Amino acid sequence: MQVIRDLQDMQDLALAWRGRGETIVLVPTMGYFHQGHLSLMEYGRSRGDHLVVSIFVNPTQFGPQEDLDRYPRDFDRDCSLAREVGVDVIFAPDTTGMYPPGFQTFVTVEEVTRGLCGASRPIHFRGVATVVLKLFNLVQPQVAVFGEKDYQQLVTLQQLVTDLNLPVQVVGRPLVREADGLALSSRNVFLSPAERASALSLSQALFKARDLAANGERSRDRLFTALKPMFTCDPPINLDYLALVDSQTLKEIDTIHGPARLAVAAWVGQTRLIDNILLEVP
Ligand code: AMP
Repeated sequence: MQVIRDLQDMQDLALAWRGRGETIVLVPTMGYFHQGHLSLMEYGRSRGDHLVVSIFVNPTQFGPQEDLDRYPRDFDRDCSLAREVGVDVIFAPDTTGMYPPGFQTFVTVEEVTRGLCGASRPIHFRGVATVVLKLFNLVQPQVAVFGEKDYQQLVTLQQLVTDLNLPVQVVGRPLVREADGLALSSRNVFLSPAERASALSLSQALFKARDLAANGERSRDRLFTALKPMFTCDPPINLDYLALVDSQTLKEIDTIHGPARLAVAAWVGQTRLIDNILLEVP
């Protein structure tokens, strides 16, 4: 496995591969790998000749009060996990390489980024779309793999690729959970044991909603009335949002007619967690 830090070296290698007609798969990450990341790499391994995993904690997707500085990092451990999965290249550019002095071009995906996390993190998806477009240009992938854990990010990047005619297939892969239901996240490391116990109520509420919908419940109001008491716990959970949205447009809906996503974001202590689930009414 090669580690590449230089942007030009990465692009030169990618263009050489493409010149030979070979396929490149990219898994973009911010590192501090867990089984959710590894599941994307395992899938990506099967989709092309070369698997590139980027590790870059992207400053332009963090707001000024957010956790950029304390975002967890363990580069050596990430490299050994990636090697075990059969990653060919870890691409780990530095911040000044990605955003040199004078950088001033950003890409904004509009409608699908307005609600959900976009409402409380106004510059987040602009940063995500910009860095992913840069990574696509540097790594030249035909396939890019993302997790449904960040469902709004996945929809945003599918829209980016469609709107800008990018020759990349964006693939979404299932959310990986702990045995007890907690969605795997690099930020889970910040949770105390008591906070982790409170955080479980997020996935439990989503599972309950999935079961209610499977039994025919279509009404957002009745779903939310059933779920809201589940978020009362100690230490407390501060809900940022609980939203029922159309799976494609991410617009809020009050009745489930087709594929719907129930999405939640909440603060548990100092840690912001997100989770979501597909709701299907038979
Ligand atoms: P991150 O390093 O948190 O930016 O995540 C990198 C990629 O891994 C994104 O496409 C995420 O959606 C995905 N990912 C993060 N957590 C999970 C999870 N629990 N299950 C599946 N994919 C995940």
